[in-house]
Amino acid sequence: MNFPPSMPGIVYLVGAGPGDPDLLTLKAARLIASCDVLVYDALINLSLLDCTRPDCEKIFVGKRAGCHEKPQAEIEKLLVEKGLEGKNVVRLKGGDPFVFGRGGEEALTLRASGVAFEIVPGISSALAASAYSGAPLTHRGLSTGVIFVSGHEERDRATVDWAKLAATGLTVCIYMGMARIRHIRDGLLEGGLDPTTPCSVVQWAACADQRTLRSTLGHLAEDVVAQGFGSPAIIIVGKVAALADELSWIGEQARGLPQVG
Ligand code: SAH
Repeated sequence: MNFPPSMPGIVYLVGAGPGDPDLLTLKAARLIASCDVLVYDALINLSLLDCTRPDCEKIFVGKRAGCHEKPQAEIEKLLVEKGLEGKNVVRLKGGDPFVFGRGGEEALTLRASGVAFEIVPGISSALAASAYSGAPLTHRGLSTGVIFVSGHEERDRATVDWAKLAATGLTVCIYMGMARIRHIRDGLLEGGLDPTTPCSVVQWAACADQRTLRSTLGHLAEDVVAQGFGSPAIIIVGKVAALADELSWIGEQARGLPQVG
């Protein structure tokens, strides 16, 4: 006979940040160190798995080379099951759980199932791409705001009006945009952005193998191909991207980089 657990479980939807474990919040670190179950994605830094208790159950639900990721419904079912078993669960996601992280969907399912949850924010990859490439997202006289947008319109079941975004004059940070970079460029040009508009592509932001490409909207797609840039990357479009020419610090100042050993 199964007895109900003596303590109700809880699921923490935790942002792991973009990759550098130093960018984890103290709350995330504390929860990872104490959880019964860790459910994690592909884009998290795997060294975080070593920070768990020896008896922690670690479950990978991301996409691996050649394999599809677990369907979202299965992930949600797993979180509910573990929560109802009375477990202290950390659902660890790259970046921030509420920025293109499907954290909202998981939280809705947990609420509907009566499982308690908390959301722990993380540093989203656009913020890391900005800081680690030296391109402020807002800057007096250059940009009064920033738009975070998904380039993967199919996955997000939405159509982005790129021309309208261009017309705002705000900095545009594009997640999941590499596969559709030509389409995005065409839309932004159609919206009136000049082909000389500065752009940056930051691949593996805040990770040991970060690469940054400085380009212009007119040459962006060709430069990405010529220099072999791919996912995961953030594309930053707007005048602020040119500030990276003066403010980039990676490589000049190794003190800020994750140290090995
Ligand atoms: N919740 C995450 C986003 C997940 S969507 C966050 O807040 O950052 C996945 C997309 O995020 C990738 O396609 C890429 O555009 C971006 N991304 C995630 N990690 C990244 C990294 N270290 N460097 C650059 N882009 C990254």
